[in-house]
Amino acid sequence: MGKKEMKALSAVSHFVYNCRKCGLCGSKCTAKLPYVCPIKEATGGFEHSSARGKIILAQGLLEGKITPSRELAEIIFHCTLCGNCQTQCGSIDNATGLPLVDTPRIIEAIRADLLREYPEFIDRAYQTMITSTSQYDNPWGISRATKERWPKGLSLKDAQNESHEVLLFAGCTIPSNPSLESRARKAALILKKAGVDFAVLGRKEPCCGSVQKRVGAIDLAQEMMKNNITLLNNLGSSTIITLCAGCYHMLKHDYQTAGTPLKPKVYHFVEFLSQLIKKGKLPFKKKKTLTVTYHDPCHLGRTMRIFDPPREILKALPGITLVERVATRENTICCGAGGGMRILEGGILAEEIGKAALEMVRDAGAEALVTACPFCELNLEAAAKNLVSPLAVYDITDLVSECSGGEE
Ligand code: SF4
Ligand code: SF4
Repeated sequence: MGKKEMKALSAVSHFVYNCRKCGLCGSKCTAKLPYVCPIKEATGGFEHSSARGKIILAQGLLEGKITPSRELAEIIFHCTLCGNCQTQCGSIDNATGLPLVDTPRIIEAIRADLLREYPEFIDRAYQTMITSTSQYDNPWGISRATKERWPKGLSLKDAQNESHEVLLFAGCTIPSNPSLESRARKAALILKKAGVDFAVLGRKEPCCGSVQKRVGAIDLAQEMMKNNITLLNNLGSSTIITLCAGCYHMLKHDYQTAGTPLKPKVYHFVEFLSQLIKKGKLPFKKKKTLTVTYHDPCHLGRTMRIFDPPREILKALPGITLVERVATRENTICCGAGGGMRILEGGILAEEIGKAALEMVRDAGAEALVTACPFCELNLEAAAKNLVSPLAVYDITDLVSECSGGEE
């Protein structure tokens, strides 16, 4: 493959050449962090699974020493983009203290080049996801009408036709999964109880473009961002609240690169909720006695540094005891579903990674795991079913809803 065709990778080549090949990104570390790379841990410890191995391949591609192939694409798509390798990276800028290697950006760039130039090497699951986006405006092949199911009967404001302060952005994953659909309802009822002036888009809510960008469909994601910014800026909302860590990262971070600024402020539900609780707007009527630990979703915690609000919420819930597991906050271990891994090979490897993350929950003395992202929840729930003694997995909204009186 000529240099010209590796356009996206060439644009981030400085990250590739900043790698010192020290191997900290693939080694077992301390008691606080049992391992760095979930893929390397779950697939037998081969070098090509870790960031260093993938960066050596990237260098080979840049210098024309490696030719793209199906095998190379498999290696590049076996990455959750969790970013733990970047957090633990040994190549640091002395002036800023920040890592000089951004492996997730290198991986996303190679995926983009492969998808554009060598689509025949890309797993069919990703092709299907991209086609679904063009057909239905969501990656999961659900009809647009599915998104109007969850708000039914709640008498919520229509964001396009009624004035409002806050837009509640449900995302594609929650409405498309019957087991998660009630999450959006619970979130809406919590906002109602707290007296928040909010509206929803229902079937007109667009896909944010996160999963498309992560698997390398950057032209498609770019177009989606552009269209969505126009739509969202014209609604008149001052604030957008997302229920998904992926939507949050995309709207708050990636949309900054789209050229036109997104006018409304973007918050994840946990940030907004913790403020409502602090202001005394959400009284709790019921007690739930449970010892839990919190799983920081990579896109919310490590990437966007939202560590304290979910912990503040859990500590405020009557009866809930919060204990910390190892691999927490910026050292969080990926649930396994990131970077498109949940739809790869039927999710088998994603669930293996999830199982490893769950083992740490019992070691911490917790009865249940709480998270704040539908991808983490789906994958960890699936993984929990395969444990010898299954473990409860909650989204934080479930617990808040229960303690605030549910649908009362
Ligand atoms: S982003 Fe995560 S899965 Fe990918 S190489 Fe880095 S540590 Fe491994
Ligand atoms: S820790 Fe950073 S510098 Fe060291 S091998 Fe991994 S990516 Fe390269």
